[in-house]
Amino acid sequence: MIEEKGILFILSGPSGVGKGTVRKALFNQDTDLKYSISMTTREKRPGEKEGVDYFYKSKQDFEQLIKENQLLEYAKYVNNYYGTPREYVEKTLESGYDVFLEIEVQGALQVRENFPEGVFIFLFPPSLEELKNRIVHRGTESQDLVLNRLKEARKEIEMMDKYDYVVVNDDVALAVKKIQAIIQSEHLKRERIAKQYKQLLEDEL
Ligand code: 5GP
Repeated sequence: MIEEKGILFILSGPSGVGKGTVRKALFNQDTDLKYSISMTTREKRPGEKEGVDYFYKSKQDFEQLIKENQLLEYAKYVNNYYGTPREYVEKTLESGYDVFLEIEVQGALQVRENFPEGVFIFLFPPSLEELKNRIVHRGTESQDLVLNRLKEARKEIEMMDKYDYVVVNDDVALAVKKIQAIIQSEHLKRERIAKQYKQLLEDEL
């Protein structure tokens, strides 16, 4: 088989949507995907392990990594830095493996700028679906509450514009299946397959 670069998949979405849960469920299944372990300045939580959940860094060390351009993207989230190590991602893709990032939205937008060939998956909160139903069916909630929810919903829907795929997280197992389907489809895209076959022909001539 012809050596092909791997594909970069980015799972992102609004805070509290369940990105971490879905990512862990995906990696609990048999997969050739490589998860890019992020760097963070936040405290290690009970049960977490260095080099498994995150690489835990001091603020000073993290800022040094930023200066040295060692991060593919980074963001400040709830007063802590989070970032993706550039070298791991680039080398792993080069060696033909797919890389999977699970990051918040500001970081995903940076990756979109620097790495437009990545595949961007937006994990969508199921509550918006419920909200839609409520709006459609004219519930009994106060107008303020409905307006607030609408404002939040609008922000989240607008974020979606920068992504290639949307997966509603109403059921973790189903969300995982959908992500696996996306990964499979990306590998079956005509331009990827055609490139491989054309290369094969060239090699034969
Ligand atoms: P937590 O502190 O709960 O592990 O993660 C908080 C948020 O940071 C989550 O939304 C998670 O997706 C995001 N996150 C984890 N790693 C990275 C990263 O490398 N870059 C960015 N931008 N966000 C990250």
